[in-house]
Amino acid sequence: MKNLMLYLLLMACVPVVAQETVSSVQLDSYLIDSATKKVGTLHLVNKTGNPVFQLKGAGRKSFEIRNGNELYWKKTKQPDRNAYDITVTDGATSADFRILKNQFHRNKVIAHRGAFKNTGATENSIGSLKHAIALGCEGSEFDIHMSSDSVPFIHHDPTIDSITIEKTSSATLAKLKLPNGEFLPTLDAYLAAGVKQYTTKLIVEIKPSVISKERAIALTRKVVAAIYKHKAQAWVDYISFDYEILKEVLRLDPYARVAYLRGDVDPGKIAADKMFGIDYNSGVFQKKPEWITAAKKNNLTINVWTVNDPALMDWFLQQQVDFITTNEPELLLKKINVH
Ligand code: MG
Repeated sequence: MKNLMLYLLLMACVPVVAQETVSSVQLDSYLIDSATKKVGTLHLVNKTGNPVFQLKGAGRKSFEIRNGNELYWKKTKQPDRNAYDITVTDGATSADFRILKNQFHRNKVIAHRGAFKNTGATENSIGSLKHAIALGCEGSEFDIHMSSDSVPFIHHDPTIDSITIEKTSSATLAKLKLPNGEFLPTLDAYLAAGVKQYTTKLIVEIKPSVISKERAIALTRKVVAAIYKHKAQAWVDYISFDYEILKEVLRLDPYARVAYLRGDVDPGKIAADKMFGIDYNSGVFQKKPEWITAAKKNNLTINVWTVNDPALMDWFLQQQVDFITTNEPELLLKKINVH
């Protein structure tokens, strides 16, 4: 009894340290550069001292660490693979990473809610994701809300069939059918489908909560955890209208690629907050074309939504933006292939 009291007293004195990141071992890029064979740089965050990084895991023989923290792919007698799973440890903690041979399309075309308009697939269905992949889009975008019992589901509006997603249990939501016959997809199912291929990126939109900021942050943590569980970091760009959601993503994963959607923050501030890009409505860039120049000057990527008009597509292609989000990926791909 005395020992128990002493233990409880000691436990009460231990300061509670919040988990600031998913892991203290972080990697800033997950793709093998085809020319240099470099993958990225390893970082130790929220820890002091000089780490000695070591490789473990099934794929370790295909990699080496140079200069203490630079991760490189190396050729072995084994056939090259699409993906390699490695573990990096600093002796105390370790992190698992899935490294990909870079086969992602580079054509600027982001299918908005998947490729749905001309394919017959329902928007935000796994079918619409598969159509975007089959078309050869650089990315396929989708939207996430969270059920009352904290399960993330894929849907654009906060409601489906007059049911508010945030106020409904996952058991009820999982029974809902989309017009194309699919069940309302969970994030888990969507990511499982997304990481079966290596050519189309997943553009993950975390929706603000209709109930509270706490739920928005809780959803963000669920989404980042799911992406780590599926080892999907190499595939994923995060986007949101809620600036605090994006800051939470960066708190958990400081090297995640995040882009802000609302269009009310200038590129200088976005860069200062260590975001990867801006993803603004086409009207914002037409009113403030100087933000295109400012974004490029700040090394931010530029995405624009939702561009369905052929003349507007041409204007943004002339501006040399990085990505164009569209309901007409077929048309934009045709334009890109002509250019
Ligand atoms: Mg969206």
